[in-house]
Amino acid sequence: MPRAALHAGVLRTAHDVRALARCGLCNGWGLRHELLSNLEPAGLVGAFHGRCVVLHLPPDAVLGLPSAERAKLRLNDTGTDLMRRLLAAAD
Ligand SMILES: [Zn+2]
Repeated sequence: MPRAALHAGVLRTAHDVRALARCGLCNGWGLRHELLSNLEPAGLVGAFHGRCVVLHLPPDAVLGLPSAERAKLRLNDTGTDLMRRLLAAAD
């Protein structure tokens, strides 16, 4: 497993490896509950890093993702402009 692909401190116990899943876009590791899934309407089947989804889809498609998946996006995935649009769309 490429150690650099994981956040420092993500794996606290040996059991935590069970929570790992591969991103369908970059093939890197991520924690299953932090990866976006249920993106079939956007043409993505599997689990994906937020950053990879943002790089792969146009902004309007990101805004159209299911709200539970949009909620997993972090500022370092989206950048400020897209995050502002996501927050405005959430009201
Ligand atoms: Zn990825």
